[in-house]
Amino acid sequence: MSFVKGLKCRECGREYPPKLLAGCENCFGPLEVDYHYESIAKVLTRDVLASRPKSIWKYRELLPIEADPVIGDLQSSISNTLIQLNVPDAYRGRVLSLLFLNRGMIPVGTALTGFLAENLGAPIALGSMGVALMICAGIAIFLRPKQGSFR
Ligand SMILES: [Zn+2]
Repeated sequence: MSFVKGLKCRECGREYPPKLLAGCENCFGPLEVDYHYESIAKVLTRDVLASRPKSIWKYRELLPIEADPVIGDLQSSISNTLIQLNVPDAYRGRVLSLLFLNRGMIPVGTALTGFLAENLGAPIALGSMGVALMICAGIAIFLRPKQGSFR
C-alpha cells in the first residue's frame, strides 16, 4: 500500500503525479514527496514500526516507488546475467552499453570509445573522448542558467 499522494515542488508548490522526475518543470526546484498523512497515522503506528527489523525497508510504505524494489533488482540482475552469458566476449561491452541507455549518455560514449579503440587504438580513443568531454563541459558552462534567473 502506498501512502504517496504525489510530488510537490519545494520552491513554487506545483504538484505532480508520483512518477520519476528530476525536478520541477516550472522552476527547476527540488521535488518532495507529498503523503496521505491521515492514512499513514492509522497504519504505521509506533508499535508497528517498533516490531519491524532495523533495515532499510523498515519504512518501505513511504518510499515514492510503485513497484516492489526486490522484484526490480531481481529482474535487473537476471537480465544482466543472461546477457553476459549469451553474448560473445568481443561484443559484450557494446551490448551492455545499449542495455544501459536508460542511464544517460555514458553508454553511447562507451560504445563509441570501444569502436574507436578497436579501429584507431586506445590512445586516440581516450584522447578523443577527453576532447569531447571538454567540449561538452564548455557548452554546459556557456549555456548554464545565470544564478537566480529561475525566480
Ligand atoms: Zn517549482
